[in-house]
Amino acid sequence: MRSSDSIIKKTEHFGAANYKPKDVVIHNASGVMVYNPEGEEFFDLLSAYSALNFGHRHPELIEAAKQQLDKVTLTSRAFHNSVLGDFYESLCALTGKEMILPMNTGAEAVETAIKTARRWGTDVKGVEENKQEIIVCENNFHGRTVTIVTMSTEESARRGFGPFTPGFRPIPYGDAEALEKAITPNTVAFLAEPIQGEAGVIVPPEGYLKAVRKICSENNILMIADEVQTGFARTGKMFACDWEDVIPDIYVLGKALGGGVLPVSAVAADRDILGVFEPGSHGSTFGGNPLACAVALKAIEIVQRDDYPKQAREKGEYFIKKLREIKNNDIVEIRGKGLLIGVEFNCSAEGYVQALIANGVLAKETRENTIRFAPPIIISYEQLDEAIKRIKKALEK
Ligand SMILES: *Cc1c(COP(=O)(O)O)cnc(C)c1O
Repeated sequence: MRSSDSIIKKTEHFGAANYKPKDVVIHNASGVMVYNPEGEEFFDLLSAYSALNFGHRHPELIEAAKQQLDKVTLTSRAFHNSVLGDFYESLCALTGKEMILPMNTGAEAVETAIKTARRWGTDVKGVEENKQEIIVCENNFHGRTVTIVTMSTEESARRGFGPFTPGFRPIPYGDAEALEKAITPNTVAFLAEPIQGEAGVIVPPEGYLKAVRKICSENNILMIADEVQTGFARTGKMFACDWEDVIPDIYVLGKALGGGVLPVSAVAADRDILGVFEPGSHGSTFGGNPLACAVALKAIEIVQRDDYPKQAREKGEYFIKKLREIKNNDIVEIRGKGLLIGVEFNCSAEGYVQALIANGVLAKETRENTIRFAPPIIISYEQLDEAIKRIKKALEK
């Protein structure tokens, strides 16, 4: 077996430096645990930014993939495949929406939602073509395409990548009044994360989503919830919007939808919205492929059958309570919902992340001074206790 060091050297030599991974090589994994080539064990408390809600290699997801691998993996959308309809039906039932448009990555689903809203704006609302506006939030994270980084307020995500896409207007997050003020006759949608993940697990003030829902309805603009990270039980409800009993017009889904096995994303909305697409107007070679559908179908089944929302809610409460017992004056706030938890420091969190890794716990800082803990939802209480013991050791001085 090659050493972690030699693997890292090669990876850094040949690869573009658009990421700065921690010095851990994951060679194999099972459930919550991952292992480096040297055989050392780590708790994965990041879960690939919530793509691994089911843990690594959930046996039923792997089995579903294997069975589909023996039938057909890719058909393109030039032809029908025998799994896509079942996937649609089950995701419609989960979201309560009438239609699905499948893509692969989260960014593609966000792009799809933007296209949907713009077309809906011209075709249904009657906004003049090329005048549609979408209101977005400061410190958002919706992905990495040129149009999406147009919406970003993060300089490192934008520098040198212009010219940007017109038609977006950022407002402060968590401020419903700002939304009301920003609306013009050309506004077609408001796009936001119900909890901002990459921004450092920013939970908006209570009542915000409800107020947003009301404002959107009153002004005939679409409420688009980017639940790529928060969806699929992560925050202790199936969707983070459920915390305020809010139903957005469009759900944007990704990450855990693929069961941590492969990229699967989708937009879910009713017919009067997703009906704006006709053949040729949008698509993806891999979107809705039978392998992806088979895995996602199983993922949707498991998340409901095993009541992942309840698991995330209860384990999250337990975890956050234990985290709050940690004595460290550098910690200014511990916040979150379900198993999406942010620990904010009054200094750079990088040293603490190193200490966690040295103690066998994988996590990463987001926006410099916040560590995000998002363990797989399947984590057991025994594993949580052991992980907390190690976190305590790493964070208490
Ligand atoms: C990760 C993420 C995306 C982008 O997903 P990719 O699969 O990386 O393109 C979009 N929105 C949110 C909220 C995310 O967390």
